[in-house]
Amino acid sequence: MRGLYIHIPFCEKKCLYCDFYSIETTHLMESFLRSLVREIDMRAAVLPDEDRTISTLFFGGGTPSLMKPEHVEMILATLHKHFRFEQGSEWTMECNPGTVSLESLTAYRSLGINRLSFGVQSFFDDDLAFLTRIHSPAQAREAVELARATGFDNINIDLIFALPDQTFDRWKTNVETAVALGTEHISAYSLIFEEGTPLNAMKLRGEVHEADEDLDAEMYEFTMNFLAAHGYRQYEVSNFARMGRECRHNLLYWQGREYISFGPSAHGYIGGTRYWNVRSLSRYMDELDKGQLPVVNSERIEGITVMFERAFLELRSQGIDMAAFQRDFGIDLHTVLQPLYERTAGEHLLLVEDNRLALTPDGYRLCDALTTEVIALLEQACGEQWQTAVPATDRIVQEHHDVQPISVSLPDIRQ
Ligand code: SF4
Repeated sequence: MRGLYIHIPFCEKKCLYCDFYSIETTHLMESFLRSLVREIDMRAAVLPDEDRTISTLFFGGGTPSLMKPEHVEMILATLHKHFRFEQGSEWTMECNPGTVSLESLTAYRSLGINRLSFGVQSFFDDDLAFLTRIHSPAQAREAVELARATGFDNINIDLIFALPDQTFDRWKTNVETAVALGTEHISAYSLIFEEGTPLNAMKLRGEVHEADEDLDAEMYEFTMNFLAAHGYRQYEVSNFARMGRECRHNLLYWQGREYISFGPSAHGYIGGTRYWNVRSLSRYMDELDKGQLPVVNSERIEGITVMFERAFLELRSQGIDMAAFQRDFGIDLHTVLQPLYERTAGEHLLLVEDNRLALTPDGYRLCDALTTEVIALLEQACGEQWQTAVPATDRIVQEHHDVQPISVSLPDIRQ
């Protein structure tokens, strides 16, 4: 399994909370696409033939639905020159509900896009106004209905909870409305006050405050219970899907599979190397004009780092296959995690089923703390090997202060 990710760096308007790379314009779309085609050609030219079979394609951003169908067609034509798509491969496009129409969705569908992910966030006008989203609740509903009418049978809705002053009842209504719309997939994220965003600046000035922690936990717990009761299986800390409708592209990230990424700020992982592109459209285009790949840097992901990433990613999603872990790294997790088992005995946070260690719904609530504890126990078990793995990451952080490379990093996929 291998994926392709294409980052479209344009938005009609920047949302208050968003720290994904995008700029508020579309007038550079054509020039960007020329650079993107160049990047795809250049990167594909150095890929071995066996790395060119693709299971999933994901257009993220930014707002990919600002692309005209002919733009998508041009990208696909370039991809088809270099890559073979598996039969039944998943092709997702992130869409802002305020930017789609019957015509555009019909065209995307006919080009082969078979999964849509709508950045809905809330079904309340004032929440959307606060978040500076460009769409209305009516447009969100209409977007899903148009998608159905044009033949899409695999749709995600993104929602955000724990907004400042959001009541529990409002959040409950949001989840109920999403379920009533019947989408196959729902992603629910707690609002994060990311450094450098206008939202965080407002918090620092005392103009907004983060939601109460207990309320945040109550909303999350309701989401897990309500969605489980309505046929959605939680397969990651923030992601819920009807049976067989998990996002295969997301799964590929969480299973440590390879993905080749294009566009400014995109992160890729291929042949044991993670690379990341420059987070600036002008620098991205300049590099490609000069005939160079727009890569800021890359790092080898090997040895002990592979093991930590595997533990971190699998525990947050579908659980750690302990037999495979022992086979690949020679570590018996049952033994290493004994102190954690003992500390959490009776709390129902962890579950072992078919030799797979997974989080229970209560465990998902404490996901960050539990994954940190698992990694710490693995560090202890690995002793000196861990110490030698640290400097490589430190060095990368120091050399490239404009990106945040961490040894356990995930591409952002939220709209
Ligand atoms: S949240 Fe989505 S639509 Fe809003 S600025 Fe970020 S990428 Fe653009």
